[in-house]
Amino acid sequence: MKLLVQKFGGTSVASIERMEQITKYIGRAYDEGYGVVVVSSAMAGVTDSLIDLAKSADPVPPEREMDVLLATGEQQAIALLSMILRKKGYPAVSLCGWQVPIITDDVHTKARIKKVGVNRIKSLIAEGKIPVVAGFQGITEGGDITTLGRGGSDTTAVALAVALNCDCEIYTDVNGIYTADPRIVSNAKKIDYISYEEMLEMASLGAKVMQIRSVEFAAKYGVRIHVRSSFSDEEGTWILPEEEVMEKVVVRGISLDTSESRITVVKVPDKPGIAAKIFKPLGEAHIVVDMIVQNVSHQGYTDMSFTVNRADAQKAEEIVRKTAKEIGAEDVVRDDRVAKVSIIGIGMRSSYGTAAKMFEVLANKGINIMAISTSEIKISCLIDEKYAELAVRELHSTFIENEEVKTIEA
Ligand code: ASP
Ligand code: MG
Repeated sequence: MKLLVQKFGGTSVASIERMEQITKYIGRAYDEGYGVVVVSSAMAGVTDSLIDLAKSADPVPPEREMDVLLATGEQQAIALLSMILRKKGYPAVSLCGWQVPIITDDVHTKARIKKVGVNRIKSLIAEGKIPVVAGFQGITEGGDITTLGRGGSDTTAVALAVALNCDCEIYTDVNGIYTADPRIVSNAKKIDYISYEEMLEMASLGAKVMQIRSVEFAAKYGVRIHVRSSFSDEEGTWILPEEEVMEKVVVRGISLDTSESRITVVKVPDKPGIAAKIFKPLGEAHIVVDMIVQNVSHQGYTDMSFTVNRADAQKAEEIVRKTAKEIGAEDVVRDDRVAKVSIIGIGMRSSYGTAAKMFEVLANKGINIMAISTSEIKISCLIDEKYAELAVRELHSTFIENEEVKTIEA
């Protein structure tokens, strides 16, 4: 029998009425003969309000108890959804994480899945039932309830698809993955097919449609994911192994990330070992450094800039101020008003002129580039935050709407 995992996010199960509506997707697959496994998030807003509630009990709630509390959100949703499915004649059976079981490590509030048991799910399916599994939660080998981190239901769904060796549908409130944020670019197009690697870059650079870990999981095991809307019947975006992505374009999407800050160490004596002195204490403080730029030196001095997540910026600045004193740098300057715009596409591997074109597009609008970083399938530029949306629109128009780059045919 063909199997299918269908995951519904918070907005898809936000009310009894929404739950009634989504049964049509479940019912359709079931009536077509699929063995359907449903995964549900908590109803929209429930996890947030549980977190608030916990914080009002204790500003720093113990993580084990936090997991016991947070897991109730999904437990509530699967029970209600199963009642509604049964009322409509579909034999649903709700299952909490521990009943599946979804075995995790014991890192509370961000546990990782170690093992997924499929016997119970398989025998339910064999009986013609529809297992409705609580997303986001698992159980340790010692029997404690865990949760998988915000957005973790995506990972539950993909893990089940891996274990059952089937496709995974992710129902959400957008029609799929777009070539750019549609709120910024009105011409943004829905992407039909995207590779895991491109999706990971898009996700880590700000397109927050799925939990990153779930895409990593899917990539590792080759699970095909279909991200689609539970508000329409339209096809969404397929996230696939690279060889199955047919449409050959150089740039698949443009992303924007405004979650970083830039720190500049001014007038550092330019000698061997200085970079190590600056970055070692940051690493020891578990601060992830992203882009790094060292200027050409003048009379034995240079400026060194780098970016960190804005949430770490204050801490990073304090650490670097200490180091700056020790190594005799003149000053440390922090800038929170920066944005990272990126173009992403596996086609860049076999294209030429892409970086030059990107710099030209920004230059034509008088946008200064503060830092650049690249990978095989991505070019990122750090710019002043006030030009962020303009940059995204211009890059989209050049690379996506007009496809102004050439590809070398292999
Ligand atoms: N309910 C959890 C959250 O809001 C998990 C999820 O929805 O995926 O993060
Ligand atoms: Mg989500």
